[in-house]
Amino acid sequence: MEKREEEKMQVTKTVKETREIVKAWKKEGLTVGLVPTMGFLHEGHASLIKRAREENDRVVVSVFVNPTQFGPNEDLEAYPRDFERDSTLCESIGTDLIFHPEPEDMYDSPCAYVSIEKLSDNLCGKTRPIHFRGVCTVVSKLFNIVSPDRAYFGQKDAQQLAIIKKMVKDLNFDIEIVGCPIIREEDGLAKSSRNTYLNTEERKAALCLSKSVAKGQEIIREGMSADELLKEMKMVIEAEPMAVIDYVSAVDALTMEHVDIIDRPVLVAMAVYIGKTRLIDNFSWEPAE
Ligand code: AMP
Repeated sequence: MEKREEEKMQVTKTVKETREIVKAWKKEGLTVGLVPTMGFLHEGHASLIKRAREENDRVVVSVFVNPTQFGPNEDLEAYPRDFERDSTLCESIGTDLIFHPEPEDMYDSPCAYVSIEKLSDNLCGKTRPIHFRGVCTVVSKLFNIVSPDRAYFGQKDAQQLAIIKKMVKDLNFDIEIVGCPIIREEDGLAKSSRNTYLNTEERKAALCLSKSVAKGQEIIREGMSADELLKEMKMVIEAEPMAVIDYVSAVDALTMEHVDIIDRPVLVAMAVYIGKTRLIDNFSWEPAE
C-alpha cells in the first residue's frame, strides 16, 4: 500500500469536486475506501473508518442525513447533527476526505431509485417500508460518485449489510463490501447516534436489547426451534416495562426469510421502542462445521 503523507483532510460539498479529487488519486494508482454515514459519529463509525484506514491508500467518509430513507413520521428533522465534531473525529483517525453534500445537491426531482426486493420485505422493512429503497439509492449514488475499491458497513445494521451485499452482486458494482463488528457501550448497549434521544431512565431500560441478544447467544443451538429461541429472548425484553417490541425474529442470513428451525446461518434481529426511540440490535449465528 502507498505510504500516506500526512496531508490536511479535505471537505467537499459537491459531486463535481469529490469526483475530481478521487480521479486524481486513481490516476496515481491509489486505492480508495468509503465509509457512508449519517454523521453524529461515535466509536461504531470510528471502527469502520479505522478499518478503512488500514486497508486503503485513501479514506472517504460521507456525512449525509439521507432524506429518502426516512418515512413521513420518522425523525429526519430531529436526527442529531454536529458536523464540527464529526470533522474533528474524522481528521484524528486519518480520513482524507469528507463528502458532506446538501440534500438539494443529491436529489433534483429524482425518478431513479434502487430497490432490492425480498430481502427488504422483512424485519425493519416491514415497519419502515421505504427505508431500504432510500438506503440502496443513496449508497448507489455514493458508489458512483466516489468509485471506492472497498466500502465499510456495520453489522449493527445487519439487514442493511445483507441488502447492500446483494445489491452489489445483482448490479455488478466492482466494490468489495466489508462488514465490521458491532461496537457497544461498556454495559452492552450497541452504540447508536439515536442513543442521544434516551433520558436517564430510558437509557437504563434500553439495556434489555443487549441482554436479550446475550440470552439468545447463550441458548441458541443447532436444531432448536426459532419459536423456542425467540420466546426466551422476548421474555427478557418484556420484563422491562418501558420496552415495546417491534419485532424479534430469526431469519436466513442471506435471504432474510424467516426460519422455523435453527439449521443454517441465521441473523437473529430485533427492533424495540424505548419510549419514542426505536433501537435495533442483533447477532449472527452459524452451525459448527
Ligand atoms: P449511520 O450513521 O447510523 O447510518 O451508520 C453508518 C455506518 O456505521 C453503518 O454502516 C452502521 O452499520 C455503522 N454503525 C453504526 N453504529 C455502529 C456500531 N455500534 N458498531 C458498528 N458499526 C456501526
